[in-house]
Amino acid sequence: MANKLPKVNVVIVGMGWVGGIIAAELTKAGHNVVGLERGKSRGTQDYYHVHDELRYATRYELMQDLSKETITFRNTEKIRALPMRTYGSFLMGDGLGGAGVHWNGQYYRFLPYDFEIYTKTVERYGKSKIPEGMTLRDWGITYGELEPYFVKYEQMAGISGDKELPEHVSQMSKPFPTGPMKQTPGMKLFTESAKKLGYHPYNIPSANLSEAYTNPDGIERAACQYCGYCERFGCEYGSKADPVVTVLPVALQTGKFELRTFSNVTEIIHDGKKATGIKYVNVPTGEEYMQPADVVILAGYVFTNVRLLLVSKLGQPYDPKSDTGSVGRNYAYQVNGASTAAFYEDREFNMAMGAGALGSCIDDFNGDNFDHSSLNFLHGANIRFTQAGLRPIQYQPTPAGTPKWGKSFKQATLHNANRVLSIAGQGACMPYRHHYLDLDPEYKDALGIPLIRMTFDFEQQDIELVKFIARKTKEIADGMGATTTQMNDVIKQYNIVPYQSTHNTGGTIMGSDPKTSVVNNYLQMWDADNVFICGASNFPHNGGYNPTGVVGALAYRTAEGVGKYLQKGGSLV
Ligand SMILES: Cc1cc2nc3c(=O)[nH]c(=O)nc-3n(C[C@H](O)[C@H](O)[C@H](O)COP(=O)(O)OP(=O)(O)OC[C@H]3O[C@@H](n4cnc5c(N)ncnc54)[C@H](O)[C@@H]3O)c2cc1C
Ligand code: SF4
Repeated sequence: MANKLPKVNVVIVGMGWVGGIIAAELTKAGHNVVGLERGKSRGTQDYYHVHDELRYATRYELMQDLSKETITFRNTEKIRALPMRTYGSFLMGDGLGGAGVHWNGQYYRFLPYDFEIYTKTVERYGKSKIPEGMTLRDWGITYGELEPYFVKYEQMAGISGDKELPEHVSQMSKPFPTGPMKQTPGMKLFTESAKKLGYHPYNIPSANLSEAYTNPDGIERAACQYCGYCERFGCEYGSKADPVVTVLPVALQTGKFELRTFSNVTEIIHDGKKATGIKYVNVPTGEEYMQPADVVILAGYVFTNVRLLLVSKLGQPYDPKSDTGSVGRNYAYQVNGASTAAFYEDREFNMAMGAGALGSCIDDFNGDNFDHSSLNFLHGANIRFTQAGLRPIQYQPTPAGTPKWGKSFKQATLHNANRVLSIAGQGACMPYRHHYLDLDPEYKDALGIPLIRMTFDFEQQDIELVKFIARKTKEIADGMGATTTQMNDVIKQYNIVPYQSTHNTGGTIMGSDPKTSVVNNYLQMWDADNVFICGASNFPHNGGYNPTGVVGALAYRTAEGVGKYLQKGGSLV
């Protein structure tokens, strides 16, 4: 029997970027908020001089413990899904700040095309351009409507970037609050080559601060040291924006925020129309609690958001056979794989200096910024050169044909460590009727609750996209003065084993039709108006960018929606 606790205004499940932003905004507005996080507390003090690649990058210190809870995966419905026992194609966050602590900090707004992708595709090419089975949807919100929320996130995080972005990338009502990161020689070569080809390169907007910054909440942070240990690590300087050094202290300072770590939420309690609270388990003691609340917010990332709805039987589960229901629909991933490596025999670069979001990119072949009339795919990719750092265990750039072990492998690794610049595309991923999330009928977590099951594979669309984008990466690399270049333009079946990106999207998508979406454009659930669900699970498809800029903007939008709901109740649209 669960211990019943006193009722609160708002309970939030998950304390990553989404949970942290919403907690800060609501407590500043005077609401009482309880934040539940299944992992432990942590802060910058945990990372002082601990650039331990084995511990953090190879043994996944900051990630979810897969022996307790994981996902199951299959490429198609015909195959039995099996649990992901080791990481892995993507790395789920765990602990205070979530994956927002060990992210890179590459920051993008999506393109205006993304938010109205169905309408704009049909307008330009006609309905027949959308292949059978591709479930393209407008998001129920436009770029213009979301723009003020991007600004909020940028000011809070101190995003560092160029004064202006190319016109076809982003119209910004306010410039980034800090200037761009330093340009390395590799970035300069990329930029010059892209310009010569007539493209429009710019510095990747970065959540690694280019200079000291004080944000509108009075939070002060120091400039990035280019230590090269961003991704999979916490930043000891607090230079990388993460929830622990930005929004969570603001929520705590209000005195209206109660943070409970080691609290694993297992169920949403509801009467079919409204939630009355949630159930959670204290991880060390195993004791079960019931936390009643006026509003329940799911901020536990894609897999938890979908799983909690399904195990709690809230909302309509998606059925791919009849194409009905919404919870679990439109799962999408990221289409990486298009790349060209430039090898230099006569020149070395200092690849050890780097930062998670240090790099240059172009969007000339992203979204609908180019004509797709004669192409067999939609959308495109952000093409970039990044310099994230050189780590001794995982960074081993070698030419194709090099043995994977032994003396010649070691020699090639040492020789090439500072001689390779890699240009890569980050491709958009379109949704399909047969790509979705549901509950696994067989496998359960350590508490006996069904695991989430993913059904996903790359499609012909993705194969064509990679072929096209790879040729563009080669074109740029060929203009960078290298001795040789090597292109990869092939992707095969999606494989969950090698790391690709933690950019999972969909499952609780937003939209304007309650039949095919789970939440409206305030991220309020159609089927229970006091439940808000926020994160990349709201994306109806995945763009050619990293997702957190949009996730952050949606979190500000959710906070506004919850504030309105607490005042007047009912559906907000
Ligand atoms: C290695 C890596 C690099 C990345 N780099 C970039 C980048 O450069 N740019 C970019 O835009 N994005 C990047 N991302 C993605 C980015 O980290 C995520 O988009 C972002 O952190 C998502 O925030 P969130 O709050 O939705 O989810 P999370 O950060 O995953 O937070 C969810 C929190 O909820 C908790 N939780 C989950 N289930 C429960 C439960 N049942 N009960 C209680 N708590 C629960 C989790 O422990 C976690 O702390 C990267 C991700 C990774 C892993
Ligand atoms: S590269 Fe910069 S932002 Fe990243 S961990 Fe090092 S100091 Fe922090």
